[in-house]
Amino acid sequence: MINKLGFGFLRLPNRGDELDWETINDMVDAFMEGGRSFFDTCYTYLDGMSEMAIRRCVAERKPRKSFQLCEKLPGYMFKSHDDCRKYFEVELARCGVEWFDILMLHWLNDQNYAIAEKHDEFRFLREKKAQGLAKRIGFSYHGNAALLDQILTAHPEVDVVLMQLNYLDWDSEGIQSRKCYETCVRHGKKVIVMEPVKGGTLASLPPEAEEKLRDCHPDWTPADWALRFAQSLPEVEICLSGMGTVSQVEANIRPFKPLTAAETALLMEVRDIIERKTAIACTGCRYCVPHCPKRIPISQYIRMYNELYRYPGDDWKILPGYNQTAKASDCIGCRSCEKHCPQGLKIAEHMKNIAQRFENNT
Ligand code: SF4
Ligand code: SF4
Repeated sequence: MINKLGFGFLRLPNRGDELDWETINDMVDAFMEGGRSFFDTCYTYLDGMSEMAIRRCVAERKPRKSFQLCEKLPGYMFKSHDDCRKYFEVELARCGVEWFDILMLHWLNDQNYAIAEKHDEFRFLREKKAQGLAKRIGFSYHGNAALLDQILTAHPEVDVVLMQLNYLDWDSEGIQSRKCYETCVRHGKKVIVMEPVKGGTLASLPPEAEEKLRDCHPDWTPADWALRFAQSLPEVEICLSGMGTVSQVEANIRPFKPLTAAETALLMEVRDIIERKTAIACTGCRYCVPHCPKRIPISQYIRMYNELYRYPGDDWKILPGYNQTAKASDCIGCRSCEKHCPQGLKIAEHMKNIAQRFENNT
């Protein structure tokens, strides 16, 4: 039996403007009482509130040696090497800890890797490891397998890679989950998984897909299947889940047997059904939204477009929610949003299709 669940402090429950501290404390307790102890945060998550939640709900309530903490430096924001130290000190203070179990560079892709090399940010990671302030070092990754191979070849000192991995993206040419996983294995690196349920996309499936999974295991939810796929891979050390309720923690923490070859094959069939029924592979993370000069609610329109693709007769239910702050046709094609999309979506192109579909109906 296995369980590799880690607690991602990215999508925390809130009550209006405030985080729901009581529920977060209860979730942390349920998680640790269930035998798990790995937490993940980042300087940029929830505008710093994720790190504050680590301090308030974990570090101030649990002995330091009873939990592991993964932190990430936003190296793409740095103007010089000295920024590594400045941000690192802020991160320690915000989290209320004296060291990190894993210290990573956040969000490496072509552009951010170039910045990391320019400011010698890997040297900072190595120094922190030598000083015992980071037990292990690594980076979170949003690029293709070829660049990953290049980075791991240039930086064999890296211990671990955090990457997007789920059964829907396993063979995708955009995300390249399988190729990136195999690249890590070839370099002898452990993998931490983010987005095992693809931002919730794999928790709610087209009926035909869900039925196939229920026929096989009536008591497993679609999210169980997704978490189990990622955790069944041998070099996956931790599988992060961004949980919002105590019952989610309790459901995700149950140990299970790794998937069999037949179960994995069934998931690949389900993946094909989902792909046929999903127009745009958006996870709803909203990273793009603040970067749109026209204030287009990008993720919301894509979700509506996907719903209409899945249920073509539902215009009357879905279209009244359209055109709130701006229309898709207000898009000026600046592609500022696309630089922030971890899924590599061609958002400007999608806005044209959404405008055509929605505005010809309204
Ligand atoms: S390409 Fe369109 S949707 Fe994206 S940021 Fe520019 S205006 Fe907004
Ligand atoms: S378009 Fe990309 S960045 Fe925007 S919500 Fe979807 S996945 Fe996230």
